[in-house]
Amino acid sequence: MLPENSPDDGSTRETFPNCPACGETVLLVTTHGPGSHACQPCGCPVSPGAMFELRGQNTHE
Ligand SMILES: [Zn+2]
Repeated sequence: MLPENSPDDGSTRETFPNCPACGETVLLVTTHGPGSHACQPCGCPVSPGAMFELRGQNTHE
């Protein structure tokens, strides 16, 4: 018995947050130290608070 809602059902949509500085899609956030983060691939620096908001966009309920 397989569940109908399998992950490979074509309904997998990965949503990436947008950079708060330039609006580019953020694929990755790199950390260079405490409180120092940068969006990739655009490279804009983001504060920990902004990064928290970026992640919050994906789990907005
Ligand atoms: Zn950016």
